[in-house]
Amino acid sequence: MVDPTSDIGEDVTEDNAPECEQCSDKIIQSTSHRVVTAIDEGKAVHYHFCSDACRDEWQAA
Ligand SMILES: [Zn+2]
Repeated sequence: MVDPTSDIGEDVTEDNAPECEQCSDKIIQSTSHRVVTAIDEGKAVHYHFCSDACRDEWQAA
């Protein structure tokens, strides 16, 4: 079982921080951090965004 929230917010450093899919900003302990989970070829993938605005732009593209 994969917990989709397990890799978020703990021990995040600049080296392993995810980048926003929309603007490529590093996301480090950001309270506006958003994650979209999608299924790609049967495998769960997580897309990280620095804010709702970036997520919305990405989803609209
Ligand atoms: Zn962004």
